[in-house]
Amino acid sequence: MTGTDRKRIAIVANETQRSQEVAQLLTEKLSDDAVFEMDAVKPDIILTAGGDGTLLKAFHQYEAMLDTVRFIGVHTGHLGFYTDFVVDEIPEMLSALKDENPATAWKYPLLKVIVRLKNGVVETHHALNEATVRRHSRTLVANVTIADEFFEKFRGDGLSVATPTGSTAYNKSIGGAVMHPRVEALQLTEIASLNNSVFRTLGSPMIVAKKDIIKIFPEPADNYSLSVDQLEFDYEDIESLDYSLDGTTIAFANIAHTHFWERVRNSFITDGLTDN
Ligand code: NAD
Repeated sequence: MTGTDRKRIAIVANETQRSQEVAQLLTEKLSDDAVFEMDAVKPDIILTAGGDGTLLKAFHQYEAMLDTVRFIGVHTGHLGFYTDFVVDEIPEMLSALKDENPATAWKYPLLKVIVRLKNGVVETHHALNEATVRRHSRTLVANVTIADEFFEKFRGDGLSVATPTGSTAYNKSIGGAVMHPRVEALQLTEIASLNNSVFRTLGSPMIVAKKDIIKIFPEPADNYSLSVDQLEFDYEDIESLDYSLDGTTIAFANIAHTHFWERVRNSFITDGLTDN
């Protein structure tokens, strides 16, 4: 087998001893197999050892290569949403990976956030889970538009926009709905909105169609924070934040996939061991 036929693999693990041991085990098994070669610079497949946070970290680390890479997660703690395999399944996982066809990879939409600052600077981020804007220790006051139509003036702690796969993460904790990943839409969820006889917002999460851009125009202030998955950015004087599904996707190797609603049930309701 020549080098060009081999599948190039990168491993990203979190810091725990368990994940480091699993990363070591994966490296040994992959190195012993002529089908694979380790390549952290230009991989075809990225294996993660850890939890969802580790997969999010790997996503941001390899963000520039999303067109060509596929991800697979091995979880070393509790069941994750982006981590399909347990350590005992590694032999079957590697065996399936040999025949994996890139054309059949599962693809999920990513959120694009364009941050326009009043000084003319424009920054773009992509999120796998969500992007959340807050104002440090003060009320966030912001106009919200959907498809360029004024929707509401928000007052409260913050606003979060989630992807379908991110809907089970922070979005769910703040009262958002769980969305099937094949529903291509954005979800806008409020964080502790002020609602009284003077101030009024919709007060419930909104599912916004893929074609529509959500824009947030914060009132002039100098202390905003934007979290993009586990990354944090501080901004002064934001003109607007534009949220859209721009067609970019993350791909997961199609070698095994827990049914989405089974995963939701196992993660949030029961581990499946009891039926009632
Ligand atoms: P982390 O790895 O400690 O993750 C926090 C928890 O969120 C973990 O239990 C993880 O399994 C879960 N999680 C992450 N993505 C998920 C998804 N798509 N569906 C279901 N559960 C998911 O923390 P981190 O490394 O900082 O990861 C950042 C992510 O953690 C953020 O994108 C955010 O969605 C999530 N988070 C959630 C809360 C909350 O629910 N209150 C608070 C902070 C961060």
